[in-house]
Amino acid sequence: MDTVIRNGIIVTATDRYEADIGIEKGKIAALGRDLDGTETIDAQGNYVFPGAIDMHTHFELPFMGTVAADDFETGSIAAACGGTTTFIDFAIQGEGESLHQALETWMNRAKGKAAIDYGFHVAIGDMTDEVMNVEMAEMAERGITSFKVFMAYKGTFMVDDETLFKSLLKARELGALIMVHAENGDVLHYLINKHVAEGKKEPIWHARSHPPEAEAEAAGRAIILAGLASAPIYIVHLSAAEALEKVKEARDKGQPVLAETCPQYLFFNTAHYELPNFEGAKYVMSPPLRDKGNEEFLWQGLISGHLQVVATDHCPFNFVGQKDMGRDDFSKIPNGMPGVETRVPLIYHFGVNEGRFSINRFVELVSTNPARIYGLAPQKGTISIGADADLVIFDPQKEVRLSVENLHMNVDHSPYDHITVRGYPVLTMQRGKIIVRDGQFLGEVGAGQFLRRSRTLL
Ligand SMILES: [Zn+2]
Repeated sequence: MDTVIRNGIIVTATDRYEADIGIEKGKIAALGRDLDGTETIDAQGNYVFPGAIDMHTHFELPFMGTVAADDFETGSIAAACGGTTTFIDFAIQGEGESLHQALETWMNRAKGKAAIDYGFHVAIGDMTDEVMNVEMAEMAERGITSFKVFMAYKGTFMVDDETLFKSLLKARELGALIMVHAENGDVLHYLINKHVAEGKKEPIWHARSHPPEAEAEAAGRAIILAGLASAPIYIVHLSAAEALEKVKEARDKGQPVLAETCPQYLFFNTAHYELPNFEGAKYVMSPPLRDKGNEEFLWQGLISGHLQVVATDHCPFNFVGQKDMGRDDFSKIPNGMPGVETRVPLIYHFGVNEGRFSINRFVELVSTNPARIYGLAPQKGTISIGADADLVIFDPQKEVRLSVENLHMNVDHSPYDHITVRGYPVLTMQRGKIIVRDGQFLGEVGAGQFLRRSRTLL
C-alpha cells in the first residue's frame, strides 16, 4: 500500500468498526488488520469519516453590488480545514446567456484555484427553447446532473412557474434533479418595497419581509408541480417549520421530495436581527432566520429523515465594507453567511454529542446523502474498496472555539464565535494525499478536480 491509516474507528452511514485503511493510487484498496504501507498514519483513538460534501456553496458570487468574500481558493481551503473534501457550487445563467456560457464562466473561476474536488449545479435563469430542447441534455452529458431554479429574487434570479415546470419535465426525462429556492418572490418583492417605503429599514424587517408562509407556499407549489411532472424535487436551504410540513406531507404520500437545511437555521433565530450596533446584518440571508422554537422542528426533520442533507449555502460577506452597505436599508445588505468550514464540527457536536442522532446519521447527512443524491456515489461519500481516499481523521476530544482566529474563511467575523465544539478534524486527505493536518493546509491550490456527476440515485 502507498499509505495505511492504522487503528482508527471507521464510520460510514451504516457501519462503525476498528480497522486499517490501505490506500493505493488515491483509492481505498484494502480494509483490514495489520496492513503494510510505505507511509503510515496512526489514527488511534480517532474516528475516520468519509470526506464531507458541501453541495451548496457560492464562492466568488457577484451579488447585490459586491462579490462573496471567499473565492474558490480561500473557500476550498477553509472547507478542507473543516473536513469537507468536495463541494458543489452554482453556475448561474444570466439573461441571453447559454448554459454553456454560464458554466464556462464558473469553471474559469474555479480552475487553478479549487484546492478540493468540485462540481457545479447550473441555475436556469433564461429558459429558451434552446435551453429546454438542447442545452439541458448537453449539460447532463458534461456531468451537470442538477439544475437550480429560483422562485425568489424578483428582478434578478427569479423565474416564473412555466420555467419551473418545463425544467421539471426535462429533468425527469434526463434523470436529473431540479433544486428550488422556495420562497414566493412576488410576495417578498411587495413586502420589501412596502417596508422600505414606510421607513422600516432595520435588519429585523428583512425577516418580516420574508414570512415563513411565503416559503411554505412556494415549497408546496414546487412540490405540486413536481408531482404533476412526475419528477423528483429537492428544496435547498429549507428554513421554516411550515415548509417542512409540506415536505413531510408529500413524502408521507410517497412523492420523491428531498430537502436540506443549513446550520444557520439550527442555531439562530429572529432575535439575532435585533442585536445592537447593526450586528443583525450578519444574519441577513434568504430565507431569513425564523422565530425561536423553529430550530427544534428542523432538528426533528433531520432525526426523522424528512430532511436528508445539511449543506451550508456558504456565501460570506465582510461586516465592514460589505454588510454595512445596508446600514440604512436592510434591502441593501448582501444576503449570505459563512459556513463551509464549521458545518461538520457543528453538526457532530450538536447532533452526536448532544444525543440527537447517531454518528452514522451524522455521516449520512454531511457526506453520504449528498453523494448519493448528486451522482457522486460510490466514488465519494463512503469508505469502501474502490472509493476515492477522501478521508477525515476526526478527534472526538479536540475542543475548538469557532472564532475568526481559529478559522480560515476569508471573512472578518464568525457567527459561531460564542460556540466551542468538542470533536474536530485533525487530518484531511483527498485521493490519498494529506491536504490538512492540525488546521494547517498542506495541499495544493488548483489540485481540486472537476467532477462529472452521474444521474441521480434517489
Ligand atoms: Zn444558495
